[in-house]
Amino acid sequence: MTATDRNIKKIAIVGGGSAGWMTAAALSNALQGACEITLVESEEIGTVGVGEATIPPIKIFNQSLGINEAEFVQRTEGSFKLGIEFVNWFKEGHRYFHPFGEYGAPFDAVQLYHYYLKARAEGPVDPIDDYSMAWVMAKNGKFSVPAQDRRMVQSTFDYAYHFDATMYARFLRDYAEARGVKRMEGKVVDVALRGTDGFIESLTLESGTKVDAEFFIDCTGFFGLLIEKTLKTGYEDWTHWLPCDRAVAVPCEHGGEFTPYTRSTAHKAGWQWRIPLQHRIGNGYVYASQHISDDEAQATLLDNLDGTPLADPRLLRFKTGRRKKFWNRNCVAIGLSAGFMEPLESTSLHLIQSGITRLLALFPTLDFDQYGIQEYNRITTGEYERTRDFIILHYKATERRDAPLWQYVADMEIPAELAYKIEQFRRGGRIVAHELELFRNPSWLAVFTGQGIWPERHDPLADARDVDYQGRLQGLRRVMEETAAAMPSHADFITKHCPAK
Ligand code: FAD
Repeated sequence: MTATDRNIKKIAIVGGGSAGWMTAAALSNALQGACEITLVESEEIGTVGVGEATIPPIKIFNQSLGINEAEFVQRTEGSFKLGIEFVNWFKEGHRYFHPFGEYGAPFDAVQLYHYYLKARAEGPVDPIDDYSMAWVMAKNGKFSVPAQDRRMVQSTFDYAYHFDATMYARFLRDYAEARGVKRMEGKVVDVALRGTDGFIESLTLESGTKVDAEFFIDCTGFFGLLIEKTLKTGYEDWTHWLPCDRAVAVPCEHGGEFTPYTRSTAHKAGWQWRIPLQHRIGNGYVYASQHISDDEAQATLLDNLDGTPLADPRLLRFKTGRRKKFWNRNCVAIGLSAGFMEPLESTSLHLIQSGITRLLALFPTLDFDQYGIQEYNRITTGEYERTRDFIILHYKATERRDAPLWQYVADMEIPAELAYKIEQFRRGGRIVAHELELFRNPSWLAVFTGQGIWPERHDPLADARDVDYQGRLQGLRRVMEETAAAMPSHADFITKHCPAK
């Protein structure tokens, strides 16, 4: 057998939601016709149909496919996202911002936030948000793309998008089909396993058509048709840390501000998202069904919209957690079939992207080397767990005790690694970064301080160094405000560069 004979020649993807089409697009681009790729999807089953907010690495995914940003924003009715505003999370009436990018601009070897902590210990200070370029733009409703020159404050922010996930899947479908991906419409009703080793051999559609392949990607969403229903891989349930298990979602007309950011507002039994797209606002209430009825949740959502609803509210059920193995035998689960954490930090589409990137880095041959599979599972597990911990932090660090959900999360035991991180920050403002961390230091800083965890002391080097930090902090704020003032509004930027047709 030559090396080429061992190469995979036939791949089947089941599912045509964002996960399925992102996978099909990336594989067709990377494999350049060397593999026959078939995607099976069922219009009758449909897709989850939500998933509108993203984080900055999505730009890399689109760029790696050669997608033009303006065309992508136009075709997905997208808008720009500079971060997330959290309202009522720490306590009612309180708000903070998780910005994309850095705090301040580097003006010394010691990180800016230690000087901020020092100033804070000496007297009243402005909110730490005001030292983030992303927030200064966001609160003024401004948007522009970052500068490349690291000496400019315009280089210190980053951005992602809000978009219609169904339109994104459709856009990627065109991309993938143009690169040879074969789409089959139909419901998979049977999955055949090989007698010798339990590997998946073929799929049978309701029509009786058989699809055989050597490698299968399960993108069937919460169904987990291949990874769970067929291969019985098992699911690690995280409900005890992330108790929200339902969401009701509804789009509405534009009635409020066209914010270049997502807003997350905590309610008694969960939280509500507000995601402005070009033609509508996406809204949803994520809640713990143990603490509120579906009817009450729906009423709360409808009472808190900016404009008239554009559709009937949709109910979605989920269980937070992850698949025990993401890759089992000749099947990899990507998307909701791999696991789900609530959409609080817009991580799901990113986890799809990083799953695909990792799959390409560890692409198998027909012998399905166990070491490659093990490595895929090790890294993916680490990424899911670190992301989970970041989301748990929002719940755990709260002063709210006004409802059973908030009492529960404030008192719950948390994963040891998160407890360690919180303690490190509380003691000395140290942010412990893990090798498999998706969210970097500024994100942790934003959520620690936003949720009321402040360090007991700052870096002693901030005392040792002769820096006019008060003057620099003030100067920085002024430059940021002036810079944002000169930028176009979010709406004007879109009208000029990427209006939806
Ligand atoms: P789905 O969209 O459910 O697609 C499953 C596909 O499998 C469909 O095409 C279906 O037809 C097909 N299928 C299933 N069974 C069969 C079968 N037997 N035969 C043939 N086809 C089959 N993510 C973010 O990044 N940002 C967000 O803001 C965000 N918000 C969210 C809010 C909520 C309430 C929820 C639940 C999720 C949210 N997500 C978000 C997650 C995001 O929606 C998903 O990660 C993303 O859409 C991918 O879904 P999917 O493709 O895995 O599954």
